[in-house]
Amino acid sequence: MLAWNQASHRGIARKDMTAPIAKLSFWGVRGSTPTVDPATWRYGGNTPCLELIAPDGTQFILDCGTGLRMLGSRWAAPSGGKTPETHIFVTHYHWDHIQGIPFFAPLYVENNEFHFYSFRSKYLGRDSLKQVFEAQMALPYFPVDMSAMSAKRKFKEVEGGDSFQIGENKITARWLNHPQGCLGFRIETPAGTVAYATDNEPGDATLDESLRELAAGADIFINDAQFTPEQLETTRKGWGHSSWLEGVKVARHAGAKTLVLFHHDPDSTDRMVDSILRQAREEFDSVFAASEGMVITLGAPGDRVQAHMPGTRTALRREAQFNAKVCGVTEGGKDFEEETVVRDLSLQGALISLKHLPRLQSELQVTMEAPGADGVQTMKLRGYVVRIDTGMEKGHIAVGVVFTD
Ligand SMILES: [Zn+2]
Ligand SMILES: [Zn+2]
Repeated sequence: MLAWNQASHRGIARKDMTAPIAKLSFWGVRGSTPTVDPATWRYGGNTPCLELIAPDGTQFILDCGTGLRMLGSRWAAPSGGKTPETHIFVTHYHWDHIQGIPFFAPLYVENNEFHFYSFRSKYLGRDSLKQVFEAQMALPYFPVDMSAMSAKRKFKEVEGGDSFQIGENKITARWLNHPQGCLGFRIETPAGTVAYATDNEPGDATLDESLRELAAGADIFINDAQFTPEQLETTRKGWGHSSWLEGVKVARHAGAKTLVLFHHDPDSTDRMVDSILRQAREEFDSVFAASEGMVITLGAPGDRVQAHMPGTRTALRREAQFNAKVCGVTEGGKDFEEETVVRDLSLQGALISLKHLPRLQSELQVTMEAPGADGVQTMKLRGYVVRIDTGMEKGHIAVGVVFTD
């Protein structure tokens, strides 16, 4: 079904084949508010923004959370020829789904053109999204006004039940159960179908059915998994969000192939999301927890779905030679244990016991000796002093460093 590392090899091997391929990138996966807490770093702290490149080159952007700024800063300008169209779907007007708009650099480039889709809010009336743009950039909330935004912008109102075609792709919108309303979108491409259902809570029979319709047979079903099933039943009932368990139920009922848990709670640490993912995988075969920088390709022959994690999010790396024992679970779900050698170590920081007192926020050169199969090796690292405490040993202090180079 899927292999993390081999996947890219196989992807390259198959490049010469002409199957249509769609690419889904996760630029923001956090719900409610961005997080910069180091404990949430691995899954990422930017609020919702996804990008889907369909086989015909059409670019879809789903939601405009802070992840949109990242997408904008890596904006690939088309190299000649016909400019591919960009269609931006905004599910609703809560902050976490719109706050990236003023920081999306391509909106300030004259030749760019964007098609925006969102619903008419009863609180805003006509041209709801246009009003949101203006309100976000009104004085004194933002340093420049709308006139600085020189890209062409077209706004289209959509609502639950609408279905339309963009290029070779069919889009369907459905209402979801969320305070002040939210749309879910289903995008059917020749490479496969993606259903995007963020911000929804189970419990309304009609809207629960809408969700199942969106997810029906989808290759990728992205669902709100902000709360644990326990929270959803008690303290967070009525807040407009869902859980991994509800996602699994819908995926099963609707015959979705892969479930992606999305809109992680800002208070959920990476370890908590790990645990949510582990529980979901016990109940459903193919599940991922949305992770910033994750890319899923759809439609590659053989493997319908391949997920890739970003290399850039790994920490500082050093070659090493440590003997190690590894225990884990195979792709097929079996426990394994194996003796091996660690050859590449990623390092974030260390606690060092010193007699000297280094200056806080200064640099330290740390040379370590690493024992391994081929004898002792040295490892040189540069650290930055982030913490100074009383040491465990007498006459020593404990120095916390973060490795930078
Ligand atoms: Zn949200
Ligand atoms: Zn919301």
